Amino acid sequence: MLDRSCQLGSTTTLSPLIDRPHPQLRLTSSSSEAFSAADGLLIDRRRFARMLAATALGTATLGSSAHAWTVQDRGIRLPPAYLADLDGDEHTERTRDSELPLARQIVNAYYLATAGTCLATKLALEHGGGMNLTGGFHHAFADRAEGFCYLNDVAVAARQLQQDDGVGRVVIVDCDVHQGNGTANIFQGDSSVFTFSMHQRDNYPAIKEKSDLDIDLLNGVGDNEYCETLSGALERISAEFEADFVFYLAGVDPYELDQLGGLGLSIDGMRRRDRLVLDWCQASKTPVAVVLAGGYAFNTDDTVQMHCNTYRELESVIGQ
Ligand SMILES: [Zn+2]
Repeated sequence: MLDRSCQLGSTTTLSPLIDRPHPQLRLTSSSSEAFSAADGLLIDRRRFARMLAATALGTATLGSSAHAWTVQDRGIRLPPAYLADLDGDEHTERTRDSELPLARQIVNAYYLATAGTCLATKLALEHGGGMNLTGGFHHAFADRAEGFCYLNDVAVAARQLQQDDGVGRVVIVDCDVHQGNGTANIFQGDSSVFTFSMHQRDNYPAIKEKSDLDIDLLNGVGDNEYCETLSGALERISAEFEADFVFYLAGVDPYELDQLGGLGLSIDGMRRRDRLVLDWCQASKTPVAVVLAGGYAFNTDDTVQMHCNTYRELESVIGQ
């Protein structure tokens, strides 16, 4: 279990990239392994160490009270039965579609990821941008797990922004290759949150939910078509919705050599995509919190490089 003594009194003194991890916290998500494998690729390893620390500190902010924080106060309204499943490590009809084992360490990893996304929003409000080196669990519904996702961290963080930080209108830009079905479902009918998903049509989930804007891409779409389509979509969102805050799910599974994706973007194209979204945020001076979402390249180094590029672009944009 996470240690209650790790709670932070305030996040106001945090810089966008945290200096050191809390000594009592361990990074349990796969991101720590993935990014330790990235040593040869990084332009500045220390910056990534700080970002991993940010994830850990996010957990510290919530401590082991994350359950109550998520459910009772933040408007997500996870039903008690679902919480009981998670807390009791009990597979039921609500957890069976997670496609994951149900164990304490795994559930805690989702609370950790959720906390990290919430912290990224704090950093974004303070500095213009923040990034969590995990998160983006967009297949989780409010009352059930799906597709590797137990908790929808972005949904929780969006509610936190609205309830604690006075943020009114939120856009969720989901560029993972799979539709953000859980996110779309959670915010259906909520005019304060605009959900946008640009994904491969013939891919998981088989049954898609209705986002405020969905773009279904055909198999094999490459860099130019993808970026032109995305650019048009962002323009349309600007015309329809004035955002106070943006979440960007920067999944790297639209990559042409992804095991679970069927689009055709190159590594350079993925970076162009990131830049498009982040420049769009910057143009309107809208704070942005970035989460990783999916990425399953045959060569893990490719996945790491693309996630690193997302960070590089964020750093570049918020440094302007
Ligand atoms: Zn995905």
